[in-house]
Amino acid sequence: MTETLFPETRLQPIHSREGSSTKAIAVIPGKSNSVHIRDIPLQDIKVELIGLDGTDREINEGLYGEAPKGEDFLVIGHESLGIVERVGHKVNSLKRGDMVVCTVRRPDGCINCQAGEFDLCLDGNYMERGIRGYHDLLAEYYSEEERFLVNVPEVLGVLLEPASVAEKAILTAFAVQERMRWEPKTAMVTGKGGFRAYNSHATENKRL
Ligand SMILES: [Zn+2]
Repeated sequence: MTETLFPETRLQPIHSREGSSTKAIAVIPGKSNSVHIRDIPLQDIKVELIGLDGTDREINEGLYGEAPKGEDFLVIGHESLGIVERVGHKVNSLKRGDMVVCTVRRPDGCINCQAGEFDLCLDGNYMERGIRGYHDLLAEYYSEEERFLVNVPEVLGVLLEPASVAEKAILTAFAVQERMRWEPKTAMVTGKGGFRAYNSHATENKRL
């Protein structure tokens, strides 16, 4: 897998286990219905559960998706729960056996990205695992930098990534309104399926 987009910030070298391979599900970006199973180098985090959503379907339909530089395929699947099997010697917050969720977006050089606010990127040159220029998690194993992994209790698991999207939207709305006195009583939640449920639950937690 291509794991060298930001080598200067990597906390640990990713050591592919030489000669070992694992299975991944990938597409040929831009080619409709190209989803297939392929071998990739064995990595350090074992995938336990995967969520699939409309983004994965649309990438397989060829509507968007971008392979890592120098490659013609893209491993998809950006919602996952994994178990750490190995860590590098500079990793402090994770250990073997920890359950982790991997974040999706990878920063570019803009001021918001450099401040850790990847979702508010100003330049649009970010990468996204499984979507844009970066292989993702629909595999038996993957690797990632410590700073892009969230240690979670198992009960949160694979749903953390979509739930975090709803939480970020609502917290950002409230942060923006801090410029004035604002006491909302109601909220309108649109959309469907699981994402609407996350938004509904999150707005209830804000007493709306
Ligand atoms: Zn940016």
